[in-house]
Amino acid sequence: MLAYTYKNYGFLELIEKPKPKLLNPKDAIVRITMSSICTSDLHIKHGSVPKAVLGITLGHEMVGIVEETGSEVENVKKGDRVTVNVETFCGKCFYCKNGFVNNCTDKDGGWALGCRIDGGQAQYVRVPYADQGLNKIPASVSDEQALFVGDILATGFWAAKISEIKVNDTVLIIGAGPTGICTLLCTMLKNPKKIIVCEKDEKRRDFVKNHYPNIITVSPEKCFESVKKESENGGADVVIEVAGNEESFQMAWQTARPNAIVTIIALYEKPMILPLPDMYGKNLIFKTGGVDGCDCDEILSLIEQRKIDTTPLITHKFSIKDIEKAYQIFENKLDNVIKIAIIN
Ligand SMILES: [Zn+2]
Ligand SMILES: [Zn+2]
Repeated sequence: MLAYTYKNYGFLELIEKPKPKLLNPKDAIVRITMSSICTSDLHIKHGSVPKAVLGITLGHEMVGIVEETGSEVENVKKGDRVTVNVETFCGKCFYCKNGFVNNCTDKDGGWALGCRIDGGQAQYVRVPYADQGLNKIPASVSDEQALFVGDILATGFWAAKISEIKVNDTVLIIGAGPTGICTLLCTMLKNPKKIIVCEKDEKRRDFVKNHYPNIITVSPEKCFESVKKESENGGADVVIEVAGNEESFQMAWQTARPNAIVTIIALYEKPMILPLPDMYGKNLIFKTGGVDGCDCDEILSLIEQRKIDTTPLITHKFSIKDIEKAYQIFENKLDNVIKIAIIN
């Protein structure tokens, strides 16, 4: 089968690999119908994911059809249409039982697919702990609608959930890339008084304006001014930082009002420094949110009820044979790309 592979730092290649086999009674093999490229794949390419193993197939956002299940798999069967969770989790350890599946203590737990074990930018994938890692797609939900459930939409959902958003809040979301927009969609479900999206790319601000006219959009240069104007207490009640650079990181705590919640879900390429003396007395509550994909069934149900729709994010479609080109476009943000669907 074809598999897009992390060959070396900075070097990815579409190669032939054998079709994966069941290795464990809890595994399933999924025939992938659609996958996507995530910024985390680029982080692997750039060497900023130390856990990433050379030679693995990339890809951790995918949907497909169950091809084969191990003897201990109970929740899915051959022929089921499923989303694949970016997280691998056992469902039994302390962290899994408390809903912190990202911190599963199993040796295969956490972000394994497309990082430590072969992922989904391929024609087939082996999913360990398939009962936890696969969610059935409702019949009225298309592959396109379900494509982001297991990763960026789960991230946005988790971000909105841990940010404790209340109806009178002004929420600032920094970054309107794919994950930022998923975070926006999940924040909208909480009905805060105002949502401001700060994004440096004018085209992406336009995308938000066009699709979600009630959202206030602003460039980083005007962000402080806008947040002050739109907030009742001198700063945002909740800030969710998704952009992932030094400027956005500093902006996140600076735009927050005292005692606000600042949720950091961005994955940075280097360490960030909190200037604690400058922040003294601001009494912020910081939360960090590496995706915790424990709500996929709820997200699928919200999609089924037409409360979340991420299909406008799919701006491009490519066949797996042209994945190289798709990466070029995604990495260089060409042609107003937001997300790319890779179709098998
Ligand atoms: Zn991802
Ligand atoms: Zn676990």
